Formats: sequence, C-alpha cells, structure tokens
Amino acid sequence: MTQLPAQPSEPTLPSSSALVATLEELYQRYLPLRDGKVADYIPELAKMNPDCFSICIATVDGQVYEVGDSEQLFTIQSISKVFVHGLALEDYGRERLLTKVGVEPTGDAFNAIVLDEQSKRPYNPMVNAGAIAITSLIKGADATEKLNRMLDMFRRYVGHDIFIDVATYVSERSTGDRNRAMGYLMHHFGMIEDPVDDALDLYFQQCSLMVNCRDLAVMAATLANQGVNPQTGDRAVEAGYVRDILSVMYTCGMYNFAGEWAYLVGLPAKSGVCGGIIAIVPDQIGIAVFSPPLDFRGNSVRGVKVCEALSHQFGLHLFDSSRGCHNFLKHWSVK
Ligand code: GLN
Repeated sequence: MTQLPAQPSEPTLPSSSALVATLEELYQRYLPLRDGKVADYIPELAKMNPDCFSICIATVDGQVYEVGDSEQLFTIQSISKVFVHGLALEDYGRERLLTKVGVEPTGDAFNAIVLDEQSKRPYNPMVNAGAIAITSLIKGADATEKLNRMLDMFRRYVGHDIFIDVATYVSERSTGDRNRAMGYLMHHFGMIEDPVDDALDLYFQQCSLMVNCRDLAVMAATLANQGVNPQTGDRAVEAGYVRDILSVMYTCGMYNFAGEWAYLVGLPAKSGVCGGIIAIVPDQIGIAVFSPPLDFRGNSVRGVKVCEALSHQFGLHLFDSSRGCHNFLKHWSVK
C-alpha cells in the first residue's frame, strides 16, 4: 500500500490560556455594546451581521490567540490601503511616491473630495483619494498583471490564497461615483494617468478581498515582524519600508479620529468600513478586531473600544515607557 506523505505540522496554538482568558473577558465586556451602524452606502456591505465580533492577536513568533467569530469572512475594505501602500513604495521608492501622494492627516472624512491646494496631491495613502492614486501607480503591463501582483502581495501577508468577493466588487463599482469623481479630479491635475477607470477598478477589487479576523491579525503581525510573515517565514514587504507604512498608519490610519487614537491608544492602526481594525505593536504583536457597526467616522465601535482597552490593560502605548509594550511577549510567556 502506498504511504501518503506526512502533512506538515500545524504551528502550535495558544500556550498562554491567561491571554485567551483576557481576550474572552474583553469580548464579553463589549458584546452587549450595540452602538453604531453597519455601512450601507455600498449595498452589499449592508448585509453584514452586526452581531459578528472577534478579537485576535498574532505574535511575531507565529502564534495566534483568538476569540469570537474569527473565521467569519468579510471584505477587507480600507485596511487594504496599508498593504497596497507598501507595494507602491517598493515599485516607486519613498521620494518618488511622495511627489504623488502626501503624508499629511486630513482631519476630513475618509471619502472627502479634497486635494492639497498647492501641490494638488491627495493628502495621504489612507484616505480614499490617496489610496486611489496609490493604486493607480501599481506596476504591471496590463490590468490582469497589476491585479495578480497585488494578489501575490496579499497572499504573502496572509499566508494563503486570497479571493475577491465578486458581489461586493460589483456593488462598489456600481455605486462608486464619489470615488470616480476623485479619480477624475486627480487625473485633471495630472496626479493619475490614463486609464483612470482601470485604477478605480483595481481599487474596488482590492477593497473587495475577503479575509477573516485571524488573517488580519497575521497581516498585522507581519508588519510587527519587519515585513516577514511569522507563520510562513515569507517576506511580504521590504523591511526598509515598514517604517514608512507604520508612520502613515500612525498619523492617518483612523481617518479623522487619527489624532485622538494616537493620543489614547498610541499604536499604528487602520480601520475599514467592513468593521475591521488592525493595530501593530512593533516587534511584538499584530492585533485585529472585527465588528461591523461603525461610528459616524467609519470606525468600528467595538473595535475602537477593544483596542483602547487592550492598549490600557497591556500598556501598549508606544510612548509610555513605564508600561509593558516592549515586554508583551515576555509578560505572557508566549516567547
Ligand atoms: N471601498 C470603500 C470606499 O471606497 C472603502 C472605504 C473604507 O473602508 N473606509 O468607500
């Protein structure tokens, strides 16, 4: 009888039950919170279940701690902007990219139709205008090659194949006139080259990629781990660009809540209208929270609360030297 080859062994999961118990306690604390509203300006998003809720932490040594609906798939939305920014940095380099897209927080809504008065650049890669400009720069001979390069990049972060939710993509495309208006405005000022519709299409596709909360935690941990996926060992982005990605996340990742977030939570982060939030504790962990109801700025209500609580409880604020952020792994004996 032919012997089947041995399956590669799974990475070992939670060794620290105390950490899972803490996540479980946070989950129970915020589960009854029913504030906020599921995004409905993209019709497909309105179908998300407001009760879904998950909290995941992935460490730089590849362990994942998860509670709630961590396998529930949803579309990544604006969290994709972080990773596509990294790809554009690799394609163009820091200096050249800066001539096309700024790094200033806007204080405006994520979908504001606004460009820098003087330079005509969109303000930063984390709001829609900047993200569309960034996506328009992704290299490739044609639309298919650009999409495939993007999917390859996401695959390295997630550690497995990743797919577009076609219903969401079609829904975004058919209701995306505001994003289209931004694209054509930037084209008018020479910030986006032809064909504008190809860039918009690619942007709608990147927003429609399906992930779950555990995937997001691993992606966040990849950034915490200087760009190397801690589970597969694959490099997802050049180490030298991780600081660019994280600094823009820190100042602009939570839209017009970015200042207050930096002050209260003190971590580079990114949210999306799907209800996901990722936050990074460099050299330690990636955090992901998923809960679809959003506040008026477009950030997950439970997601913000959980991150505030995690930062406070574990002492994760980057500038709080008296706290435990440099010792998270040691504290939980997960390293
Ligand atoms: N696809 C959404 C849009 O373009 C992404 C917005 C978001 O997640 N903030 O409006």
